[in-house]
Amino acid sequence: MQDREGGCLCGAVRYTVKGEPRGTAICHCTHCQKQSGSLFSFNLVVRETDYQQSGETMVFIDKGDSGHPVHRHFCGRCGSPLLAKTALMPGKVVVKAGTLDGLDGLRPQIEIYADHAVTWLAPVPGAARFGQNV
Ligand SMILES: [Zn+2]
Repeated sequence: MQDREGGCLCGAVRYTVKGEPRGTAICHCTHCQKQSGSLFSFNLVVRETDYQQSGETMVFIDKGDSGHPVHRHFCGRCGSPLLAKTALMPGKVVVKAGTLDGLDGLRPQIEIYADHAVTWLAPVPGAARFGQNV
């Protein structure tokens, strides 16, 4: 079991993810685009008990497709998005994998909200692709 470390751009928030993620997904949704300032996010779904954090995050309470709140945690100093929590996935946190110190051994299993993916971006080989959420 490999632990993975990560943190925000300025280093005020650091975290460890214990063991292997429960799932890996690229999300092309418009909220991930807005929040990241990029075109998609690469996310790890991990058990809350496998996520340990030092430093404080600020929280933006977003609303998902389902109407449920999505708590988006970010560093209040440098703005890096770090994780999200939603009532649809109790006991889980969704870690923004771009904040990991390294991505060794991690590949996306699925792509979601591909209906919003930019047309010039090729599908990821080996990843199942869904137009909306799974
Ligand atoms: Zn920071």
